[in-house]
Parts: sequence; structure tokens; C-alpha cells
Amino acid sequence: MLSRILIANRGEIALRIIRACRELGIETVAVYSEADKDAPYLQLADEAICIGPPDCAQSYLNVPRIISAAEVADVEAIHPGYGFLAENSHFARVCRDCGIGFIGPSVEAMELLGDKVAARKLASKASVPVVPGSDGVIEDESEALKLANKMGYPVIIKAAAGGGGRGMRVVHNDISFRSAFNAARAEADVAFGNSSVYLEKFIVEPRHVEVQIMADNEGNALHFYERDCSIQRRHQKMIEESPCPVLDKHTREELCESALRIIKEADYSNAVTVEFLLDDDRNYYFIEANTRIQVEHPVTEMVTGHDLIKWQLKIASGHTIKTSQRNIKLNGTAIECRINAEDPENNFAPCPGTITRYIPPGGPGVRVDTHVHQGWTVSPNYDSMIAKLIVHQRTRTEAITTMRRALQEFVIEPIKTTIPACLDILSHNLFVKSKIDTGFVERNF
Ligand code: ADP
Repeated sequence: MLSRILIANRGEIALRIIRACRELGIETVAVYSEADKDAPYLQLADEAICIGPPDCAQSYLNVPRIISAAEVADVEAIHPGYGFLAENSHFARVCRDCGIGFIGPSVEAMELLGDKVAARKLASKASVPVVPGSDGVIEDESEALKLANKMGYPVIIKAAAGGGGRGMRVVHNDISFRSAFNAARAEADVAFGNSSVYLEKFIVEPRHVEVQIMADNEGNALHFYERDCSIQRRHQKMIEESPCPVLDKHTREELCESALRIIKEADYSNAVTVEFLLDDDRNYYFIEANTRIQVEHPVTEMVTGHDLIKWQLKIASGHTIKTSQRNIKLNGTAIECRINAEDPENNFAPCPGTITRYIPPGGPGVRVDTHVHQGWTVSPNYDSMIAKLIVHQRTRTEAITTMRRALQEFVIEPIKTTIPACLDILSHNLFVKSKIDTGFVERNF
């Protein structure tokens, strides 16, 4: 087992990783920016190193500073969490070159799956359906327009290096195509330093369903079933649940097997999520793979009873998967609400500030993953997600009841949060009946 690692992240995920490490007897080195100097995760780490000012570029995204901290602290490996450098293959390569383990996939597997166009090709090679679209990157506007006409509108223009819903444009006709094509390219260039885009048919009112996989270094892989992440705003997830309530046993098996085939084709190890769109006729299409632990991993942990961060740490320590797939069982329903410091009444504008009153919910079936507390100041420098509220019950109906109760209990004042928006969604009869798709939030709220 690894004995000492550095966590190149902050907030709730840093705390989550530290907790797993403490249970496994692994020493932890936390890093922090000046804005996070009083963060609770630093208290629980064995050592904490300041890596710079609040600006991410000078701290959590700064490769030389993080590597220097790892060298000084003499760690064996780095856990990148999610966001920041988690899917940055340059960072993974520098770790490798410096002889520091990276708790995630190999550089090659990350590069392959991180390129969405290459990943689509890989999925096809693994006989997994992909959304109909361009064969590869499209540079030329006229060529793209021709293809859009051939495929038929609506189409979606997507950044090859995309993530976080950026660099995507849905287009409904020729008139808006050219400006959308150029806007997507420009946005991709700014966000990812790569203006390459490709085209996909825009699937109307799909569900977003993703499969969690863990793979070891020997080519063994297991799936941990699926999550339904259809409750999104601007292509960003708000509420996730496991299992997907509309999948029958046969489709579930096929979907999970498809995800495993892609991962084996990529020679992948450690945690990965394979994302699909599911249409009304239960057809599913691969869209992308995320080569890291995801924000929404707790719902999978609740329904399978497996600690996915511990799995990551064990695999990075060289453990081989000995369990068989039939030992991974689904139990009940779990739902997660992302609690963001945003004002739902003001177009979800970020709402940083000091929390003067904080009362988390509790009771049976409730889990809160957060790093905030009374007196904590939410910084404008980082992502607005401040907590994840997760519930687990025997049935979906019970899970919805518990989630509504827990949301009503949750006090975070005076800053605005997404708690009321989540409550509205949880109370909507279409959500209760699970008649949802990725456009549900935009259509109904
Ligand atoms: P990102 O990597 O930026 O998160 P994804 O490819 O994972 O981008 O897509 C994010 C979301 O965008 C999906 O969950 C879905 O809501 C929407 N989306 C992406 N591709 C399509 C498509 N071809 N048709 C319909 N919706 C899509």
C-alpha cells in the first residue's frame, strides 16, 4: 500500500480523500492557497503546504508549485481529485518523469480518452454505438455546414478537448450555423488552448446515463453500475441518482458491458466514468469518458457499498482486482444534490461570502460531503459547489422523501444557495415520476 501521498486539490474532495487515506493508514500532505489557509481539510492532513495566492493559475493549477511541494514533502504519489489538474495529461506526464505516482490512469490512456474525437473512434472500434456525427475534427466551416445538412438539424458543435459544458453549441438551422461554429471554436481555444471541434447529431430530450468503472493495472475491470445525471442546467449536472430509474435489467447489462469494452480497448487503469445519452427508445450512444473520480461518485458508493476513493488508492498501490462482477451488487436508490453558492433567483449568479449560520441535515440515510462550516468564507476564486447532499433509501420514492426532508433541514445563511432550486425539482411531479431528460430544468424552471 502507498504510505504517503499529496492531494492536489481543495475543498470537499480533498477532505474526502484524506478520510479514505486515514482509514487505509496512508499519510496525507495537503496543499492550499492563501485563500484556504483556514480550511478544515488542512487540520486533518498530516502536513499542509501553502502553494501560492488565491488565483488558481498560481496555486491549484500551477504544476511546478505542486510538484515542488510533492518533492519537499517526499510523497510517493499525487491524488488529483476532480477538476483542476485531474485530466491534465501534461501534469500526469510531469509526475511520471519526476518519479511520482499519479493516482489515475496512464498518460497514454488519459490522452486517448481525453480527446473526445479519438474516444469516439475507440468506442466504435469496441462496437459501442456513438452519436452519429463527423468522422473527426472539422476545420472548415463550409465542410461542416455541408455535413450538418446531411445529418439534419438540430446538430451540436463540440470541442474535441471539451469539458464542463464549454465549447458546445446547439444549432437548429443554416442561418445560425456559421456564427455558432466560429463561436464554439473561439470558446474552445480560450478554454482548452485547442480550437478543434467536431459535429454530433443533437439527440432530442435524452437522458444522461453514465457507467462507473474501476480497472487495475493487469487488465481487470469491474463496473459499479450507472448514474442518471439528466438533471442539468446549461449542460452542467445539478442532481444525480443511481440506479437510472428507467433502465431494464437487459439494457443495464448491455450498457455496462459496452462501457467495459471501451475501457479495455483503451488499456485503462484506475477510476473512469463512461458517459452515454439514452433516447426514448432505450437506444444509448457513447458521448465521452472522464478519466478521474467524478463529483457524483457518492451515489454509486451508497448503492454498491464500495468506497471508490479507497479503490483508487488500492489500485494505485498495485493491488489486483480479485472480486468478481457478480459480487458488486446494487442496493436501493441514492440521490445527490449539488449545493452551490449561487442565487437561483438571479440566474444562478455566484454568491460568495461568509456563512454565519450553518446547520447540516442528518438522520437515517443522509450523508453530507462538504468542507464548509459556520464562519467559513466562500471564496469567489473557486468553483461555487460548497456541499453535496446525498441520501440513500430502499426505494426511489423513499429517497425523494428523505432528500426533500434533508434539503428543508439544511441551513446555510446568509449566502444564497441552490437548496431552494433542488427542492423545487425534487417536488416536481415529472421528477417524481422520473419523466426527465437533460432539457427538463430549462423547460420547467
Ligand atoms: P462536457 O465534457 O463538456 O461535460 P459532454 O460531451 O459530456 O460535455 O456533454 C455534456 C452534456 O451536453 C450532456 O450530458 C448532454 O446534456 C449534452 N449533450 C452532449 N452531446 C449531446 C448530443 N449529441 N445530443 C444532445 N445532448 C448532448
